Amino acid sequence: MFCPKCRYEYEIGLFVCPDCGSRLVETLPPDEEPEYTELVTVLTTGDAGLLALAKSILNDAAIDFFVKGESAKDLFAAGFYEVQVNPEHEEEALGLMEDMLKGGYTLAGEDYDDEDGEDEAER
Ligand SMILES: [Zn+2]
Repeated sequence: MFCPKCRYEYEIGLFVCPDCGSRLVETLPPDEEPEYTELVTVLTTGDAGLLALAKSILNDAAIDFFVKGESAKDLFAAGFYEVQVNPEHEEEALGLMEDMLKGGYTLAGEDYDDEDGEDEAER
């Protein structure tokens, strides 16, 4: 007899798994597909403000997402956040992130004074 959850074989005479309480079966069902889905990264940033913005945008769009590096420990190790979504939402999420970045939100430390360079060019 086998426990379908623990996938342990038990001696005949047991009907319930001593570990988890599941009813034992005579043959194991085929391996279940793992719940794990490969997530795709749609935004990488070290900017907590940008991350917050991205999260609210994805929330509004009802896209489930996962933020890698959000815990202080992870952030310390990696130095940046990764916003990840299910592959089925990849295109939509990427579009939203692109709009967000185009929407005038400036990354901290980003160089955006292109126009000032003209003064020197005239000389
Ligand atoms: Zn069990």
